[in-house]
Amino acid sequence: MYFLRFLIFIISIYLLYKLFKAIRQLKLAKIKNYHFPSSTASGEDLVEDPACHTYIPLSQAYRKEISGNTQYFCSKRCCDKYESEKNM
Ligand SMILES: [Zn+2]
Repeated sequence: MYFLRFLIFIISIYLLYKLFKAIRQLKLAKIKNYHFPSSTASGEDLVEDPACHTYIPLSQAYRKEISGNTQYFCSKRCCDKYESEKNM
């Protein structure tokens, strides 16, 4: 009976490991999808959003010319926020 118990022990360790891996992948996917709806091509230039200070790939950034300078935002919402804060 010792062998059977040992087998159950191994299986539960294996299942825990699988569960841990699945949770980790889920977290990574969430982080990736937070500001990058589609996957980012590696080597692409990143620009900083001055409103929320996250980095967005140039091709996906929301552009807006503010007092002669082109600013890049992660979304229109951040752009509006930034502009309203500047005007205050
Ligand atoms: Zn933003």
